[in-house]
Amino acid sequence: MINLETLTIKKASDHLKNGDFSAKELTAAYLKNIEEKNSALNVYLEVFSDALKSAELIKEFSHPMSGIPVALKDNMLIKGKKASSGSRILENYVATYDSFITKKLKEAGAIILGRTNMDEFAMGSSTENSAYGVTKNPHDFERVPGGSSGGSAAAIAADLALASLGSDTGGSIRQPAAFCGVVGFKPSYGRVSRSGLMALASSLDQIGPFTKTVEDAEIFYNLIKGKDPQDSTSLSDEVKEEENKKKKFKIGIPYHFLAEGVDEAVMSNFQQSIKKLESLGHEIVEIELPNVKYSLAVYYIIMPAEASSNLARYDGVKFGYHQEGSNLLEDYLLSRGNGFGKESRRRIMLGTYVLSSGYYDAYYGKANGVRNLIRNDFEKAFQNIDLILTPTTASPAFKIGEKTTDPVSMYLSDIFTVPANITGMPSISVPSGFTEVSGKRLPLGIQFTAPFLADERLFEIGKQLENYHG
Ligand code: GLN
Repeated sequence: MINLETLTIKKASDHLKNGDFSAKELTAAYLKNIEEKNSALNVYLEVFSDALKSAELIKEFSHPMSGIPVALKDNMLIKGKKASSGSRILENYVATYDSFITKKLKEAGAIILGRTNMDEFAMGSSTENSAYGVTKNPHDFERVPGGSSGGSAAAIAADLALASLGSDTGGSIRQPAAFCGVVGFKPSYGRVSRSGLMALASSLDQIGPFTKTVEDAEIFYNLIKGKDPQDSTSLSDEVKEEENKKKKFKIGIPYHFLAEGVDEAVMSNFQQSIKKLESLGHEIVEIELPNVKYSLAVYYIIMPAEASSNLARYDGVKFGYHQEGSNLLEDYLLSRGNGFGKESRRRIMLGTYVLSSGYYDAYYGKANGVRNLIRNDFEKAFQNIDLILTPTTASPAFKIGEKTTDPVSMYLSDIFTVPANITGMPSISVPSGFTEVSGKRLPLGIQFTAPFLADERLFEIGKQLENYHG
């Protein structure tokens, strides 16, 4: 019997190399767990019937990801497989090519187990906007796993995959990672190619891993990063030499940003993390980010603007769901009106409005101006410090249904994660312990953000915390 609970990519890779078990046996163990747990959790929208067969072929373990069973969010293309982005409008869409990350996984000999549930087109913080039902939080089935990559986060927490990928436009990797008690990493914008990722907001979207450990996140990231001619915003994977040398950091905390609305339990857990960091020899200082309070406002102009443009391609003609009307306009209205869920329609309307000729400067133009101010605040702060620390979320996982009727309270759950997307900076959520709510132990996370392209710093600090046993 393979003990999945304590398994990591690192350990599994060593076992595979030693011949302690085969890739097929490992894959079979995950498939069995999926069979037992998936119907209650709704993590996978589809488990691939050829996973075991692919595993059987993997006999060489030249890369640490060789033979490792992984799960992909439903907005990432795998040639010949369905990809629906959690939407009715793409219910029967079959991908015609491999995304960049899929190619990398196949080249390394990783096993793709299936596609995971998500909020429709990655719009949401709970997976409740999926057209295929909510995913349950493995720590408490009455609670959400977070979103939009809720399925990929829950997959790791419930041992339904050893690692998974999500996409993060405003927090969709880090927030569900915190809610599910796993590691979630959003690389610097451009570090991982977006080719074959269904776009939500192109200037904010970034792919990244969910894993049990920071060490594993680094292994996975090292496989998928790098320049791709298919994505002109992708960057080379060069690491500055000094990044690998620094071990003691000066860490800034924007206390003014944490002053309101953070749960008491989150705050006391955060204080404990600070103590650990201090005893590891890091210096903690207070910083000011004067414009960070505008982050959500900026995000909810830029994201819907880009989303409304990106989602224009789903017109009922070229892709997916089609409903016949009496003329072309009616075809569009019926196909889009019935194919998209409520949140997608809300954001398409918001985005179309802020981009319309009379309002473009007042909304979209202004939001881009403020985006620069926020980036400047971060860059200025990073002249004196190495990392910025906040809790990942202001509360532990909320209850299913708790925020569905109030979109603004749902949007507020991304208050600490959105700035890294606005600035393009890399950011990681690492598990920081638990809080007890009504007899259930709910996980919490803390979030480190580093300067643009200083992704390696996040692995260094994360691994130090992971190995701390004080
Ligand atoms: N929850 C945020 C939203 O609803 C972020 C989503 C994401 O990162 N994809 O847009």
